[in-house]
Amino acid sequence: MAYIYCVANQKGGVGKTTTAVNTAASLARRRQKVLLVDLDPQGNATMGSGIEKTECSNTVYEVLIGKADLDDVVVKSDVGGYDVLPANRELAAAEIDLMNFKNPDQRLKEVLEAVADKYDFILIDCPPSLTMITVNALCCAQGVIIPMQCEYFALEGLSDLVNTVKRVRHNKNPQLTAIGLLRVMYDGRITLQQQVSEQLKQTFGDRVFDTVIPRNVRLAEAPSYGEPGIVYDKSSRGAKAYVAFGRELLARVKQDFSDKE
Ligand code: ATP
Ligand code: MG
Repeated sequence: MAYIYCVANQKGGVGKTTTAVNTAASLARRRQKVLLVDLDPQGNATMGSGIEKTECSNTVYEVLIGKADLDDVVVKSDVGGYDVLPANRELAAAEIDLMNFKNPDQRLKEVLEAVADKYDFILIDCPPSLTMITVNALCCAQGVIIPMQCEYFALEGLSDLVNTVKRVRHNKNPQLTAIGLLRVMYDGRITLQQQVSEQLKQTFGDRVFDTVIPRNVRLAEAPSYGEPGIVYDKSSRGAKAYVAFGRELLARVKQDFSDKE
């Protein structure tokens, strides 16, 4: 059974997609079978995996509203070594269309259940919102990775997100237990970033991943070549950090599983 993690933060541009794409590629490098679900109408995870979003005749949208089978829509990211359930701007309509379903927040869970046996990991790249699409992701995940920049305002939105996660866990999905904060775009030369990073550790303890992703221009360049950063320039500091993060995530998941057995 796949371990399902979503990458979420309602703030825009904090590194969700970069984390989702590079973590998928990093896990694939470790011989994990990975499905990356693009759950953002921007389609950035699709494009960043080397798949042209405008050429996808069917996407996650058709799967969610029951007009296509997931198996027929999934495409292989040759460059990343993982499968992708692509998205494009059509997905924006899902917020309204899902309301026609009896359990609109459970649709993604229903469609992923059919393929959960085929993968070791399913990673979901969420849009910058806490609306129905993101709630769908939280309803089917065991874990949530929250990428954060170590800035003052980063902490402000965090409580909204953590409260949403807790609400979903309490009312909808008791399996959603693993919350991990990932420090991204980190620049250790900036004192404020050091302070916020320390504050995160003190407040959230081992819920903060040990790996820190540095600010690194190679990670930002990679999507324009349709490649995950860890493929585009594997010797860059950013790539090395995401490779380390894949290793850490895998170790944590194994630990979680053995704790529950
Ligand atoms: P959105 O909320 O719009 O979906 P996002 O949270 O998915 O955004 P990304 O698209 O991953 O964020 O990143 C935002 C921008 O920052 C992108 O241009 C990306 O290439 C760049 N970026 C992400 N991580 C890093 C990093 N570690 N170093 C340098 N640039 C980065
Ligand atoms: Mg994104």
